[in-house]
Amino acid sequence: MSAWTIEKAKAMYRIDRWSGGYFDINENGNCCVLPNPKKPDICIDMESVIKEIKEAGIQFPVSVRFYDILHAQVVRLNEAFQEAIADEEYHGRYLGVYPIKVNQSCEVVEEIIEAGAPYKFGLEAGSKAELMAVLVYNQNKDSLTILNGYKDNDCLRLALLGRHLGQNTVVVIEKFSELIALVRLSKTLNVKPLIGLRAKMHAKGKGKWVGSGGYDAKFGLTAAELINAVDYLKKMNLLDELVLLHFHIGSQLTDLRSIKEATNEGARLYAELYKIGAKVTYIDLGGGLGVDYDGSASTVNSSCNYRLKEYTVNIVYHIKQICDLENIPHPDIVTESGRAISAHHSLIITEVMGEIRSWGMPFDTKPDEKEHVLVHQMREVIALFEYDNQLQEIFTDADEIKEKASEAFKLGVVTLKDIATIETLYWQIIQQIQNLVQKGNLDDSETISEDLKSISNNLSSRYLCNFSVFQSAADVWAINQVLPVMPLMRLNEKPTINASIVDITCDSDGKIENFSVQNEVSNTLPLHQLKNDEQYYIGLFLTGAYQDVMGGMHNLFGRLNEVHIYSHDDDTEKFYIQQVIDGSSINKVLSSMQYNPTSMSNMIRKMIDKRIADGKIRPREGIKWAEFYSQSLNGYTYCDTKEQSQFSNLLQIIKSVE
Ligand SMILES: *Cc1c(COP(=O)(O)O)cnc(C)c1O
Repeated sequence: MSAWTIEKAKAMYRIDRWSGGYFDINENGNCCVLPNPKKPDICIDMESVIKEIKEAGIQFPVSVRFYDILHAQVVRLNEAFQEAIADEEYHGRYLGVYPIKVNQSCEVVEEIIEAGAPYKFGLEAGSKAELMAVLVYNQNKDSLTILNGYKDNDCLRLALLGRHLGQNTVVVIEKFSELIALVRLSKTLNVKPLIGLRAKMHAKGKGKWVGSGGYDAKFGLTAAELINAVDYLKKMNLLDELVLLHFHIGSQLTDLRSIKEATNEGARLYAELYKIGAKVTYIDLGGGLGVDYDGSASTVNSSCNYRLKEYTVNIVYHIKQICDLENIPHPDIVTESGRAISAHHSLIITEVMGEIRSWGMPFDTKPDEKEHVLVHQMREVIALFEYDNQLQEIFTDADEIKEKASEAFKLGVVTLKDIATIETLYWQIIQQIQNLVQKGNLDDSETISEDLKSISNNLSSRYLCNFSVFQSAADVWAINQVLPVMPLMRLNEKPTINASIVDITCDSDGKIENFSVQNEVSNTLPLHQLKNDEQYYIGLFLTGAYQDVMGGMHNLFGRLNEVHIYSHDDDTEKFYIQQVIDGSSINKVLSSMQYNPTSMSNMIRKMIDKRIADGKIRPREGIKWAEFYSQSLNGYTYCDTKEQSQFSNLLQIIKSVE
């Protein structure tokens, strides 16, 4: 076998295919971050990041944000559009907006606004609360503020406040009644609105998030409604205020074809509106620009079959074609890309707390004269390995004995010790079979049945990680999204264990079982054997879009500790931690669910007092327990993994007690 190399590690975890150029593996075998594509000499070693996080006393799991990546993505998107516009000799501009629902964190929004300032990059809001944030954070008078989603009168009033403040707040009409409400409000308040119309599209996207296109879409105006809207605005003398045509056929559009189709349809709508007198300035294609999470560059849900350049060129080209054909001006192009901007900038670092094996702890299987005949039979099956490699037969026999034993146990015929021995022997057999199958040097390779191949899956380890899938990677749970997962260190060592990942929630769904490995999606991820004296860290990548902000309160784990990192040329480590945001304390998550931690503390105190009065607890001890309870309320909701990591060899510990 040839030696393990960094190149092999890169191919195994497909890092070049999903990293966007921001993540790599350095010569020390550590994952590293290249936050600024224009400064390739800045390479941040994740081992140093982890070290610094630990030294700062911050507990894992941690969500790490690289603001330089956010910055770079905003620049990338804008420059790609500008390039396409120049190449195609397009006359309009690109004026993108960032939809804050994708990651509403204040710092994220601030960074995007700052990075986007030279490009007049604006913000999009989809609700009243988001609009209230956007009104304050988008102070750039040249950029757009776009308001989507269903709106009540207060929401419309807030948009008009935006106009009062001199902002380009465009109210996108999702249903006809909003238009009437908006016009009335603007007359009473004497402020002219900027109006956009959202069209219901025939073009449908492909992927998990395409409910936004087609006739059954929740949002948008039909052809008849669009014409009526134009007529109505004409009558109300507000046609000049109709500035934008909007459509959005879904997020994570996996197929470039659906983007072309939607662009064509949208451009046709623009042309038709123009011809009936609605000379809108902006054509807004919504979101949908995909992220290739699994690196397959295909139309599966976690991927997309195009790159940024193809996206921008196709949009510009198709709009231009139709406009030139109809002999009408080229509109300014707006997109609302959220996922593509924010996905890469954040990752979750979690530690492995231990390995869960199907076969549990080691167990002493030495023969015992009182043992049941089934145990004896299992021993005979093991002995078969010495004679021939009839793996199928061995497997069938072992399986049958195990089944019988479990029946016999229920009937009281075999003892718990017999069961422990039988199960331990069984797993030894399975492991042996797996070894032989994997080596592939069997005499007659045709004897390897699907059954035997699937054994390898059953045997795979599970690595227990200190995080919650529900909190940190909701789409992995909800829609089987594949997210890149990779160990952060030891990548110069060959990974020898195939493991799935389980989290610390008590929900059986709290696991990751789809990984992009080599050229396929696999149920297990190649990982390294855990060491007794060393923590093993795993990164969950591309969590900056939706995942960061979607997590619920499952199991009351709450938000993660957050570390914000900026790169820096002059720093020895090339980075500095700019800010740490404490994750949820137990106190906070309980309060958010209407518990009252203070009175809970008091109740515990009373319960302890009663035990003291009854003479069951000594007063000094009681006070300590009460204090412990109230102090724990201020603690982090996730596990403190330092404590148990020393118990690495359980059997040895038990033996040493004897
Ligand atoms: C969610 C949403 C977006 C963002 O889509 P991405 O695929 O994340 O870019 C943009 N516009 C509208 C109207 C949306 O609902």
